[in-house]
Amino acid sequence: MFLTVTTTGTPGSPATDLGFLLHKHPDRSQAFSTSLGTAHVLYPEADVRRCTAALLLEVDAVALVRRGKGKGRGGAPDAALAQYVNDRPYAASSLLAVALSRVFSSAMRGTCHARPELPAQPRPLRIEIPALPARGGPGLVRRLFEPLGWTVTAEPVPLDAEFPAWGDSRYVRLALDAETLTLAQALRHLYVLLPVLDDAKHYWVAPDEVDKLLRAGAGWLPGHPEQQLITSRYLSRRWSLTRQARERLELLRLAETDDSEVEELDNAVAAETETEERPAPLAVQRRDALVAALEEAAAARVLDLGCGQGQLVRALLIDPRFTEIVGVDVSARALTIASRRLRLDRMGERQAARVRLLQGSLVYTDARLKGYDAAVLSEVIEHLDLPRLPALEYAVFGAARPRTVLVTTPNVEYNVRWESLPAGHVRHGDHRFEWTREEFRAWAAAVAERHGYTVEFRPVGPDDPEVGPPTQMAVFRLRKSEDETRTSDDETRTSDDEKEAEAA
Ligand code: SAH
Repeated sequence: MFLTVTTTGTPGSPATDLGFLLHKHPDRSQAFSTSLGTAHVLYPEADVRRCTAALLLEVDAVALVRRGKGKGRGGAPDAALAQYVNDRPYAASSLLAVALSRVFSSAMRGTCHARPELPAQPRPLRIEIPALPARGGPGLVRRLFEPLGWTVTAEPVPLDAEFPAWGDSRYVRLALDAETLTLAQALRHLYVLLPVLDDAKHYWVAPDEVDKLLRAGAGWLPGHPEQQLITSRYLSRRWSLTRQARERLELLRLAETDDSEVEELDNAVAAETETEERPAPLAVQRRDALVAALEEAAAARVLDLGCGQGQLVRALLIDPRFTEIVGVDVSARALTIASRRLRLDRMGERQAARVRLLQGSLVYTDARLKGYDAAVLSEVIEHLDLPRLPALEYAVFGAARPRTVLVTTPNVEYNVRWESLPAGHVRHGDHRFEWTREEFRAWAAAVAERHGYTVEFRPVGPDDPEVGPPTQMAVFRLRKSEDETRTSDDETRTSDDEKEAEAA
């Protein structure tokens, strides 16, 4: 990753004053070790007429992953590999922005003890970044920098110079020129806009990012025509953070505008809020899809295997069609939370009779789980190490053998659509694998075949034409012929249950 800042001398200030502004001596090359890798600052040219400082960041992708900055332990083999082999060492990106703020923090703040008058003076500046990942292309680069007083030269970098037919990469070669800006302003523009163009922050967005954005955006972000895009991309489209930042920006702007503009702004904000109506979160869509599939299967006695904190159990309790709901989880802690959330201790007798929480591991057969209408495995299989999956398969499909089994799991192909998920990462630190649609289908078809079920697949969440839905669901149904043998096996138990139900 590479960025240069060049200035030329002015009557009052030789070009080498850049060394004072950056707090880095032009005669020396210096290295700084940061949590992202080593940052080098050197001056390829430095005389009174022209002075260029270069910031070179040697990203240590391996250390990034080890230190957990890359998140996502134990992903699929491909995901694991992508953490090590990626474009991070080469492209300027949000990491470069982070390095800028570490290495040039005083310059960004605009302080210089040796020459206090210097930071406030605009001077001729040229910034060059040979490979800038830019989602939105040269057009967006211009829309972001031009309103700030930069003359922008942005050329797309071809994928391969020898094969122009392959088209352009997502990188641009960027040069920015300005005469009217201070170095501190320039650095703050870069600090915010590099990650915006990269549009994939390589670390998780923390709540203090709003403060960082407002601090770096002071004086230019309120009133920027692309303020909305900048804010939401910078905060990786985290809704609550984005809204918070926007509200505070509006306040800053209102302080500087007159009343007629206030009304206009109010309308704009109202319109924005409307279009921002959030779709139901994926977890809710998943629960709705599961409940619908259970109703369709006319299931009354249901197992929620790997029930976690009991969200589905609660949803099922609301519907009287579900007469017996059993949540099973290996985690005692999850079950304690579930029990508290369901208010099991304060539940009326009738309700309490419908629900049970059991601790147990799904990789062992368990006589308590036999004879149910349906079992749900919602976002559970990916938490198991792949070699344990056959044991779960046998315990559920071979031994417990409910008439219907619903299995949901993430569709890894969709991960490219999550704005805040860096490439090649799994969605949750504890996921041992995430499957493509084809991998899931192959597994499910084989399971169905081995245990006498049919299987059908459904999308959950928006079904993207290219990469499919965020969640994939398999609906397994026990084949008729198998169902008869199952009923005779369980006859005693079933009639006992009926007696119990009658007695209640
Ligand atoms: N079904 C819930 C929770 C999914 S998280 C939902 O859809 O939101 C996965 C859950 O599976 C966790 O609660 C975890 O404790 C549980 N789990 C993982 N391995 C398990 C095992 N071998 N046996 C039982 N539960 C397991």
